Amino acid sequence: MNTSLVWFKRDLRLADHTALCQAAAQGPVLCLYVVEPSVWAQPDAALQHYLFIQESLQELQTALSAIGGTLHIATGEVVDVLSQLHVQQPFAAIYSHEETGNAVTYARDRAVAQWCRTHRVAWHEHPQFGVVRRLASRDKWQAQWQAHTSAARWPVPVAGAVHFAPPAAAGDAMPTPSQLGLASDAPPQRQLGGRALALDVLQSFLQDRCGHYRSGMSSPLSAPSACSRLSAYLAYGCISLREVVQTTQLHAARLPPEASQQKRALVAFISRLHWHCHFIQKLESEPALEWRNLHRGYDGLREHDWNPAHFEALVAGRTGWPMVDACVVMLRETGWLNFRMRAMLVSVAAYPLWLHWRPVGEWLARQFLDYEPGIHWSQLQMQSGTTGINTTRVYNPIKQAQDHDPQGHFVRRWLPAMRRVPDTWLFEPWRMPPELQARCGVTVGKDIAMPLVDLEAATRLAKQRMHALRAQPAVRAARAAIVDRHGSRRRRDPPERHAVKGAAQLGFDF
Ligand SMILES: Cc1cc2nc3c(=O)[nH]c(=O)nc-3n(C[C@H](O)[C@H](O)[C@H](O)COP(=O)(O)OP(=O)(O)OC[C@H]3O[C@@H](n4cnc5c(N)ncnc54)[C@H](O)[C@@H]3O)c2cc1C
Repeated sequence: MNTSLVWFKRDLRLADHTALCQAAAQGPVLCLYVVEPSVWAQPDAALQHYLFIQESLQELQTALSAIGGTLHIATGEVVDVLSQLHVQQPFAAIYSHEETGNAVTYARDRAVAQWCRTHRVAWHEHPQFGVVRRLASRDKWQAQWQAHTSAARWPVPVAGAVHFAPPAAAGDAMPTPSQLGLASDAPPQRQLGGRALALDVLQSFLQDRCGHYRSGMSSPLSAPSACSRLSAYLAYGCISLREVVQTTQLHAARLPPEASQQKRALVAFISRLHWHCHFIQKLESEPALEWRNLHRGYDGLREHDWNPAHFEALVAGRTGWPMVDACVVMLRETGWLNFRMRAMLVSVAAYPLWLHWRPVGEWLARQFLDYEPGIHWSQLQMQSGTTGINTTRVYNPIKQAQDHDPQGHFVRRWLPAMRRVPDTWLFEPWRMPPELQARCGVTVGKDIAMPLVDLEAATRLAKQRMHALRAQPAVRAARAAIVDRHGSRRRRDPPERHAVKGAAQLGFDF
C-alpha cells in the first residue's frame, strides 16, 4: 500500500486534524515536521515562537507515541527534505493544512506544489480555519465560515486506528536557536506551548473568566485575565478554531438563563473568532499586503520619512508617554498585549511618530507570541490608515491612560520610575516642575523619557497629511474595489448584528 506523508506545520495537535485523518484513511502514514532555516531567518521570526513550537512538538510527539506513531523531525528547506525522504521511503501523497503565511512560506508552498507535480505526488491541503482559498467573492464568505466551524470534528485517532509507517531513517534533533540565528531574548513570562495548556486556557475562560470579558478586555490591567488568551494556541494550531467555536457554543447553550453576562461575553468572543478568519482572509486573497500598502494610493505616504530615533525610542520603551512605554515593557516581559493597547502602539507609531508600518510590524511580529501573519499585517495597515477603507483611528496615549489606567497601577507596575511620580502628574509626568522632580527623586529626561514630539501638534499634522491624501479623487476612486475585495459584508447581515455591535464597542470597523 502507498504511504502518505502528513506534513505538520501550524497545526500542532492530533484532535480535529483533518490532514492526519484523511491520510490515515488511505493507508500507512508518515508524520513530518520541518524546521526551515529560511523561515527562521526572516525578520518576523523570534525565539519565543520557536520555543513555543518546541514545547508543542514535544507534546505532539508524546501523543503520537501513545497511538503507536512517531514524528519525524527534519531540518532543511522543505523541497530538499521531501526529495531526500522520497528516496528513502517513497510516498504517494502529502496531506497538510492550508497555511496563510508570509511571503517566504507562500513561495515555499509554490515550490512544494511544483515538486509534487514533478514527482507525481498528490498534495491534499485542507482548510483549518474559516479562510477560503481562491475565494471568488466576499459575499458568501460568512456562510463558508459557518459551514467550516459547524462541520463535525475529527476525533483523536485511537491506538491501532492509524497505520504508521516507521520512518526509514532517524529524524534530526531540533537545531538550537542560535544555530537558526535567533536572538537570545524571549519574554520570561510568556505563555507556554502545547495542547494541554490550550485546553486548560479554554476551560478556565469558559468556566471562570469570561464574565469579565466585555468589561475587562480594554484595560491592560484586566485584559490578561479577562481575555481568552487563546491566540498563541490558535496561531500554532494546538487547538482547532472549530473546537474553540463548538466548545464555546455548547457551553453557552448550557448556561442558565440568569447567566446573561456570560452569554453576552461568549457572543462577543465568537465574533472575534470570525474576525480571526476575516483578517487572515485578506492576506490569503492578497499576499502582497504583508509588504505593500493595501491601497496603492498611500504609497510614499511615510516610507521616505523614516526616523530611526523615533523607532529606537519606541522599541526601547522611551517615547515619554507612560502608557506606551509601559505597554512596550509588558510586551517584552510577557509576549502579549490586549487588542486596544496593540492598536494604540501602532497608532502612536503611525501618527505622532510618523513611522511606516512595515518595520514597526516586523518588530511587533517578534514581540507577539501569537504572531499570525494574516491578522497582524491587516491590523498594522488598518491601524496605520493605509487600507483606504477604514476610518482613521488615532489613539491618544494620554486619554487611553486616563480611561484605562486612571490610578496608574499599570504604568507603575511596568515602569518603576513612575512609582515616584505623584498622582497629579501621572498622565503627563514631563510637566512636573523641576523642584518637585528633585523632591520625588525622579528626573524627566533620565529616569522617565521626555516625549519625543509634541503629541497634539504632531498628531494634527499627521491627520492633515492623511486626510489630504484621502481626499484626492484618484485615491477615493480606488476605494470601492478594495471594499469589494476585502470589506466585511456583515453589516448587511441581520443575524450577525451582535458582531457589529462588538466592533463598535472597540471603536473598530472593518
Ligand atoms: C496591530 C495589531 C496586531 C495584531 N496581531 C495579531 C497577531 O499577530 N495574532 C493574533 O492572534 N492577533 C493579533 N491581533 C489581534 C488581537 O489583538 C489579538 O488576537 C488578541 O489580543 C489576542 O488575545 P486573546 O486570544 O485573549 O483574544 P480574545 O479577545 O480572547 O479573542 C479570541 C480570539 O479571537 C481572535 N481575535 C481577537 N481580536 C481580534 C482582532 N482584532 N482581529 C482578528 N482576530 C482577533 C484571536 O484569534 C483571539 O485569540 C493584533 C491586533 C493589532 C491591533
